[in-house]
Amino acid sequence: MRLVIRRDDLVGIIKSAGESEGEICGFLLGRIEGSAVFVEEVRGTRNKLNSPIAFEIDPLETAEVLDEAEGKGLEVVGVFHSHLECPPVPSGKDIEGMDLWRNVWLIVTPSGGFQAWILENGEVKEVRVETR
Ligand SMILES: [Zn+2]
Repeated sequence: MRLVIRRDDLVGIIKSAGESEGEICGFLLGRIEGSAVFVEEVRGTRNKLNSPIAFEIDPLETAEVLDEAEGKGLEVVGVFHSHLECPPVPSGKDIEGMDLWRNVWLIVTPSGGFQAWILENGEVKEVRVETR
């Protein structure tokens, strides 16, 4: 499996991560073709926890994003957030979230690190990220 995202979109997420004192978060909208996940739009959301070590997206905002995606003929293909002090690897809490949102999880760091992950059969697997 691979995640295909525009370089500008990825750079934009990393830039936001560097400008925020808390973890940033949001959804990746796009489409899935075979084993490739194409990101067409990055939709940032508020971090309800406003925390440097965790994030939570408000269910109402999630519902809004699902509506927006549907209106645009896109799917919510991923979740993104930042890690400020540790590598872009899912935490225990992230893995619980991945169990609820079973799509690709992109994690970035302010210093420009990024890795994507998916939970498959209870196992966290890395997803290759390709920019276009
Ligand atoms: Zn995390």
